[in-house]
Amino acid sequence: MPKRKFFCPNRGCHANLNPGTKIVLKARNENGKEGIILLSPQVGNYTVFMEEDFLCDEERVRLFCPVCGESLLVVDDDRFAHVWMRYGESQAVVYFSRVKGEHATFVIATSGDTRAFGPDVDSLDIEDLAATTSFKGMKNSLGA
Ligand SMILES: [Zn+2]
Repeated sequence: MPKRKFFCPNRGCHANLNPGTKIVLKARNENGKEGIILLSPQVGNYTVFMEEDFLCDEERVRLFCPVCGESLLVVDDDRFAHVWMRYGESQAVVYFSRVKGEHATFVIATSGDTRAFGPDVDSLDIEDLAATTSFKGMKNSLGA
């Protein structure tokens, strides 16, 4: 099985975010405190590693690429953060809720295939998100 690789979506960066077994992100909580958050590369696995008490339930975390420092929040819909994913031959944008405890992930592939993961996906409308998803620069940056 090919390894799922995740990348910063920001232009001029596209750093690999999971060189090891976890996705490594920089985070800022609502009090302005910064820290590291580790996510599972398995889409739909919501195990999160972070400093104890870093986030309260339902707190909205700000997420950043640890390499370029740019925000990973979706500009037009800041309920979500996003990263790029390459899995074998396929490439996708992965959107995930940035609310602690809200388990919702959407994977929109360049092929047009859209998948939803997590128990909270039904309460989130992503029609606009899907419509504004851009794959610009992805093919050149991630290769085939
Ligand atoms: Zn970056």
